[in-house]
Amino acid sequence: MARLDRLVLFDVDGTLIKQWSGAPSQSGRLIKKYFNLDSSKIRLEGGGMTDRQIIVEKLKRLGLENPDADPRLAAALLGYTSITKEIMDEFGIEQVPGAERLVKRLIDEGISVGLLTGNTPGRARIKLEAVGLWNYFKIGAFGDATTKRSELVPIALRKAKEKTGISFRKSCVFILGDTVRDIMCAREAGTKSIAVATGKQTFDALAAESPDFVFRDFSNIEAMLLAVIGKM
Ligand SMILES: [Mg+2]
Repeated sequence: MARLDRLVLFDVDGTLIKQWSGAPSQSGRLIKKYFNLDSSKIRLEGGGMTDRQIIVEKLKRLGLENPDADPRLAAALLGYTSITKEIMDEFGIEQVPGAERLVKRLIDEGISVGLLTGNTPGRARIKLEAVGLWNYFKIGAFGDATTKRSELVPIALRKAKEKTGISFRKSCVFILGDTVRDIMCAREAGTKSIAVATGKQTFDALAAESPDFVFRDFSNIEAMLLAVIGKM
């Protein structure tokens, strides 16, 4: 039963679900609503950032002293769920092709799966429920908790221990995501990385960061499975 000690942690946007193009900035709307500030001129490459990090970073650039400790931040983060619902209603939401097949296959092989996402819990849930993926994931670390993505790894490992009773070794934990920040997160946390170019970043840009494994998409499930169950 050696395979049972593997844990694959999935990113959400660009990995499990397709990203919107042309949708209005949700963090911008929240900053307007909860802080009454206009962040429309701030350009952030938000891919792989946590939701908390995006709002905090924008507020810092708008001159707020210590936004991470601002009491309005918690309300703004909770506000992500309803604003995401509005965007979903307008722009729709779709799975990344093949992602569900991989999730199912990993579970069939006795491998634990979880979420490690920059999304707040409410936001991850509303998106994944809409495409029928939420119920696969009993373990999750979410982007309201921290401005530093790699700090989500110990949270995920603690939840994984609670759910499965297994203390996963970091060499048996795989961060699967579509951005350079997912790869950096794995490196900082001491886990393995599996990059997949199903989001906005190219295969070459991901490969340049030297992830442990990199794939163009989810078309070769067997190769992905081998990456996870292969020799450690
Ligand atoms: Mg992503």
